[in-house]
Amino acid sequence: MKKYSCALTLSLLLIGITNSQEIIRRDPEIESMIRQISPQRLEQHILKLVSFHTRHNMSEQNSADKGIGAAWNWILKEFESYVPASGGRLKVEFDEYKTGGERQRIPQEITLKNVIATLQGSDPADTRIIVMSAHLDSRAARDIDNTNAAPGANDDASGIAAMLEICRIISAKPFPATIVFMAFSGEEHGLLGARHTAQKAKDENWNIIALLNNDMIANSDAGETLANSNMRLRVFSEGVPALETDAMASLRRYTSGENDGKARQLARYIKEIGERYVDQLDVTLIFRNDRFGRGGDHTPFCQLGFTAVRISEFNENYDRQHQVPRTEDGKVYGDLPEFIDYEYLRKNTGVNLAVLANLAQAPWEPVNCGIRMSGTGNHTTIGWEPPKQGKKPAGYYVMMRETYMPLWQKKIFVTGTEITLPYSKDNYFFAVQSVDENGHESLPVFPGQMRR
Ligand SMILES: [Zn+2]
Repeated sequence: MKKYSCALTLSLLLIGITNSQEIIRRDPEIESMIRQISPQRLEQHILKLVSFHTRHNMSEQNSADKGIGAAWNWILKEFESYVPASGGRLKVEFDEYKTGGERQRIPQEITLKNVIATLQGSDPADTRIIVMSAHLDSRAARDIDNTNAAPGANDDASGIAAMLEICRIISAKPFPATIVFMAFSGEEHGLLGARHTAQKAKDENWNIIALLNNDMIANSDAGETLANSNMRLRVFSEGVPALETDAMASLRRYTSGENDGKARQLARYIKEIGERYVDQLDVTLIFRNDRFGRGGDHTPFCQLGFTAVRISEFNENYDRQHQVPRTEDGKVYGDLPEFIDYEYLRKNTGVNLAVLANLAQAPWEPVNCGIRMSGTGNHTTIGWEPPKQGKKPAGYYVMMRETYMPLWQKKIFVTGTEITLPYSKDNYFFAVQSVDENGHESLPVFPGQMRR
């Protein structure tokens, strides 16, 4: 039976359609958490990380105040300072791995450490994990230069600072799902730390439903083109998944779902939720996995079949990335704290916080979501089943968009588990989300073929 409340009830959301208005409903608790983000603390974190001189993967590991070891020790301690506020739900640990060797970018074998802070969900039966990640290592120009200063204020102290600040704020509130903060080493020498943890997550069957990798989120100045904006943030997402079984590929071709993989759904979700809570910011979706010729720590997770995206500033400045700090012809080079745009970093931290807080308390996704493909006609019937775990959703959002449109255009609130819409399935794409009574929605599920 179709059963859905109409637009006159509270939850029909129309986005981006001519003559329509977007209805914004903010959860006051999430709003309040975002207000707690402190640009001063973000700055202190960046200055502290810069003070270690270099966080190169082959730098000092046993000094209290210099090198990568000082950095991971400090990050661990900082996370640990949030444990009391979490009521013991936050667990902080190193995750060590051996890497390097002959003919590798790190030419001798060394042990590196990631820092992992796990904020255990309040529901022990809830296996969902949402990850925020950033990398703690830095570099100057040359791969093996472990002595020159490599401040890495933006790349990627900005991501680590955002992560610490979010952990501080979010640890105080229990969420049913688990949130894991991952500070990776080894990024600058081939995503080594992320590869290690991604493989572990795969081997141990972690139910990671989303990974938000933040790498360089605080530079607003594009340098040579003179473009400058702290009002746009990029989210990179793969289209066709890096890991796809024959069955997944065949369903993708059948549904024309090449623009509707899980990473793409997550990216659209980040745009919607980020812009719902953070003012003066346009979350700009980049429909590619990463920039040309360069990588990020989300990629090893994508390659193992996880849903992972990269979050980065809109404008990069190449005079400030991977440079030995110096002044040449009056021009300053280097990834220095004075170039950080703290208001921009505050907003980008807010996007991450909003997404983590919204998703960690959303109901589980609907299951067995499908479109009735049999027969012809200009109506579309979509059906699904309630999630098998977690709280019962208050309802579902059925989303639709024209096939050529990048973003969902309509969001229809439904209380049942089937809907027939007067739109042809040939002309639109659809997806379904679970939603609770406070408006926290799950990630969208792109339907396959209805089985009943
Ligand atoms: Zn980076």
